[in-house]
Amino acid sequence: MAEQGREAARAAAADALDRIDRFLETTRPPTPCLVVDLDIVRTRYRQMRDLFPSAAIYYAVKANPAAEIIAALAELGAGFDLASDGEIERCRDLRVPAARLSFGNTIKRESDIARARRDGIDLFACDSAPELEKLARAAPGARVFCRLLVQGHGAEWPLSRKFGCDRQTAAELLLRAPRLGLKPAGVSFHVGSQQMEPRQWQGAIAHAAEIFRACARNGLALELLNLGGGFPAHYRRPAPELAVYAEIIEAALRECFGGARPRILLEPGRYMAGDAGLLRASVMLAAERPHPGGRRWVYLDAGRYNGLPETLGERIDYRLRTPRTAGPLGPVVLAGPTCDSTDILYERSGYELPLALAAGEPVDFLSAGAYTASYASVEFNGFAPIRTYCI
Ligand SMILES: *Cc1c(COP(=O)(O)O)cnc(C)c1O
Repeated sequence: MAEQGREAARAAAADALDRIDRFLETTRPPTPCLVVDLDIVRTRYRQMRDLFPSAAIYYAVKANPAAEIIAALAELGAGFDLASDGEIERCRDLRVPAARLSFGNTIKRESDIARARRDGIDLFACDSAPELEKLARAAPGARVFCRLLVQGHGAEWPLSRKFGCDRQTAAELLLRAPRLGLKPAGVSFHVGSQQMEPRQWQGAIAHAAEIFRACARNGLALELLNLGGGFPAHYRRPAPELAVYAEIIEAALRECFGGARPRILLEPGRYMAGDAGLLRASVMLAAERPHPGGRRWVYLDAGRYNGLPETLGERIDYRLRTPRTAGPLGPVVLAGPTCDSTDILYERSGYELPLALAAGEPVDFLSAGAYTASYASVEFNGFAPIRTYCI
């Protein structure tokens, strides 16, 4: 059964790559560009819905805010996790019902909270007393959930430290909410993005359950548990199947909550958009560097500041594809186009490319649909942000 699922997923990925290739061949868009296959996004949503039948799925728009992606997911019934007024506006423009929106950033402008509330948004995150007080002033009567601090071990792109509070603070904030005129809804956490270890959810769910019990002892019944994002895309290092995550999470929920299970929310970003996109860059220069330790350097028209910031620390290791299959490969340092020496993508990760690769030829980054186009600087060094094409 699992093997059949994997086969089907591989076949769907191959079909999508064919569609993207046909688009690139016929349209020949200028590079760098991102091509997103919406069928993959839809398949991902359905897969997740099937594996987590009782959860509400809120797409984390920051992963890729293309209007076509939001529209495709909205049509399937998805909700949306939003970080700013700008992201809310994208959903507003597409007439996504406010009941399906969550303002999930724990750092919000008070004026943005007020605007969101006027738009009918009813669900807000917080992880500190000042933010709770802001919500009380700008969104009276709204439902709030409290974000719990987790370590982020096992994640290729951790989201710890900057967000979340400890268990005791979370319980205190939630217990205080009614006195401020807010409705305490529950608890959220994020185990870190591209989380390779499904077991990281176990501890976080257990900690969340402690907060539920602490609140219950004080007469407050919480109803919502937000398990965040973290579900993986397919980079060089293989991650477990989503079914493994589902099984472990289901077991942890059963163990920690028994029959009194709260309403579950998921906020996938990378999992929805990552594998749906291909980022095409072109070689601007390929040159041997003769200085000591020098190697072959390949400079692309996409780099750290226009689409590939997650190569920071070489943490996200995209699968690369070049059209030249003939000819020997050799180790390369891969760099971006700007006049900034931090604009180096990979030098320690063991990438090899054809030695004959020359200026003008394409280099494709596979599974690059998440945190690429949305992360590009406006125009650092005169290089325009990446253009997205949804097919
Ligand atoms: C970024 C983010 C997500 C999405 O994370 P992924 O790892 O891309 O799935 C979900 N929830 C919150 C609050 C986030 O900040």
